[in-house]
Amino acid sequence: MNQTAIAYSNIFLEHNTGSSHPESSERLKFILNKLKSTSYFKDLVLLSFEQASPTHLEMIHTKTYVKSILEELPKLQYGYLDGDTPFSPKSLDASLYAVGAGLKLADEILARNVQNGIALVRPPGHHAEQDHAMGFCIFNNIAITAEYLIQKGIQKVFILDWDVHHGNGTQNAFYHRKDVFFCSLHQFPFYPGTGASHERGIKEGLGYTLNIPLPRGSGFFEYEKAFHEIVIPAIDEFQPEFFLISAGFDAHTKDPLGGMELPTSAYEKFSEIILQKAKEFAENRVISFLEGGYNLNALADSVEAHISVLHDYPV
Ligand SMILES: [Zn+2]
Repeated sequence: MNQTAIAYSNIFLEHNTGSSHPESSERLKFILNKLKSTSYFKDLVLLSFEQASPTHLEMIHTKTYVKSILEELPKLQYGYLDGDTPFSPKSLDASLYAVGAGLKLADEILARNVQNGIALVRPPGHHAEQDHAMGFCIFNNIAITAEYLIQKGIQKVFILDWDVHHGNGTQNAFYHRKDVFFCSLHQFPFYPGTGASHERGIKEGLGYTLNIPLPRGSGFFEYEKAFHEIVIPAIDEFQPEFFLISAGFDAHTKDPLGGMELPTSAYEKFSEIILQKAKEFAENRVISFLEGGYNLNALADSVEAHISVLHDYPV
């Protein structure tokens, strides 16, 4: 079995955010060029996939929101969904394929055609709320895949969000649930303002949201300590059947938006920790979703470091 699948489409390059926006198509071009230079690129399974349907979107988003996006974006062509979330004529297609990428990876892994995979997509998803777009995100790619896995019979999904920003949309989607654990390490205080450690879930979801806010300037030492003292014990207790990662790389020391100090090698270490836990509990099943990361070279290097572990980790 080939171990690792990539869900990528050129349509993601056509989500045009304008010349000065950090979330640009150059990000994916740099990542793809980097991957093509690796010795293992030929081993990666390149998936083709379809657009998500309204039914898929409504697993997380409200009917009203889905309807407004599907109807308004084609009419308006250009505009902003919130202050920093622009759209252009191909953005709707791109955002529907971005959701479809995660669903296809889920299907392929459930069918045991591959062990793990990554959705190299734009727009990203973790800030998208049930009823509105936010923070460069239109639909919540990772949350929709998590719910899709639950509907396919997976009983416990663990979402790890290591993007430098708190994944507010994902947290809110599962805040009341105990079958999808949401764990986030992020710079705090910082955009979007949520993610304090006292945000732990409600009702039967209490204790199934775990926020690890870290001060600006945190580096490998602080992150590694948090992994060993907080994240790993939470995984051990939850015993997930499937791991999803909101893999943003904007906590990299070179990132122009984030204020953290992680070296590229940190993403290799974090990936190894999750792959080890996935082997222990989840039959090696892991899907990553590209979220942020805005220094083009640091992003490409960090994604490559992450995928090298997905590809090489002994399963
Ligand atoms: Zn981010």
